[in-house]
This record gives sequence, C-alpha cells and structure tokens, in this order.
Amino acid sequence: MSKKSATCPSCGSNDVLRNEKESRGRLTLGQEFFYKEILYKCNSCEEEGDFNAENDESFLNAQKDAQAIFAKNILENMSNVGITMAMFERVFELPARTLTRWKNGDFSASALALLRIVATYPWIIEVAEHKFEKNYASFVVIKIAANELLEQRSNPTLHYNDDEKTSYEKSVSIFSNTNVLIGA
Ligand SMILES: [Zn+2]
Repeated sequence: MSKKSATCPSCGSNDVLRNEKESRGRLTLGQEFFYKEILYKCNSCEEEGDFNAENDESFLNAQKDAQAIFAKNILENMSNVGITMAMFERVFELPARTLTRWKNGDFSASALALLRIVATYPWIIEVAEHKFEKNYASFVVIKIAANELLEQRSNPTLHYNDDEKTSYEKSVSIFSNTNVLIGA
C-alpha cells in the first residue's frame, strides 16, 4: 500500500493512515463498474475521510469508462438489426458523423439519455422517422402494446412492483425482440 502524504483536515496532523478498497457502482441500464475508494484515518484524532478528495475523480473516471462501453454496445446492437448510423442521424436530425463520435467515446449526458430512451423504446426510431407525427405515434404505441399483450398473455405482467426489476448483470442486449421494430 503506497503511503501518499495527507493532512488531517480536522487537527492538521500528518500521521494519517491510508486505506484503499474497491467499490462498485452501477450504470443506469448498464453494467456494474469498479473504482478505487480511498479512506484516510487520522491516528491523532481518529477523523476519517477522503482527505485528498480523490474518490470523486476515481468514481467519475470509472463511470465514464462504463458509459463509453454502454454507448458502443447500444450502437453495435442497432447496426446488428439494420439501423444504420446514417439513418439514426437522419431521423433525429443529428449532424453527420455524430454517432461515430459517440462510438469513439465522445458523447454528452444528453447523448446517453437519448440512447437509453432508444434502447428502452426502440420503436421511437420509427416515430422519429415519421417526424413525431401525433397520429402515427399513437398508432405505434397501440400496435406495440397489442404485441406485448399477446406475448404476455400466458404470463400477464400488467402490474409492476419493484421486486420485478430487470437485472442487468450481463451486458445490455437491446433490439433482440425484432417484433418491437415495425417494418424497420
Ligand atoms: Zn486528526
């Protein structure tokens, strides 16, 4: 264990013990990620904490890496079911090569938000292709609902409680149910 110098913010002592542990976080819709958490303990006054403010950066770096994998994963899933990056950019009116940037790890929080929405409701792409026209959007929602209802007839899940949360232990695979893609 390396001993990096730290000063106790409470009493100013340098007699400080440094402990490292591996902590875990979880990305929304994505996998678990791990980061190093450092906890200092002052031998003089017993104050404990992240004296050098290292943990936020460590967490954010690990989260960013996990987000990059998540974005890449979704984009690869899309191309596997025939949704090209050019089509996606066209229907959401994004500048050309936007998705190439995202795939290479250059994306914003809003980009991630859009990808999460698309991963959860892939048919939104079809709605976007129809310029979000209200009647078409209603038609799609009803058609999707009818399909889901037929599929779940044997095991209805018209109720929902938190115990039924989907686990994302494995990498997220979206667009696996081609029924949700209408004529794409
Ligand atoms: Zn102290």
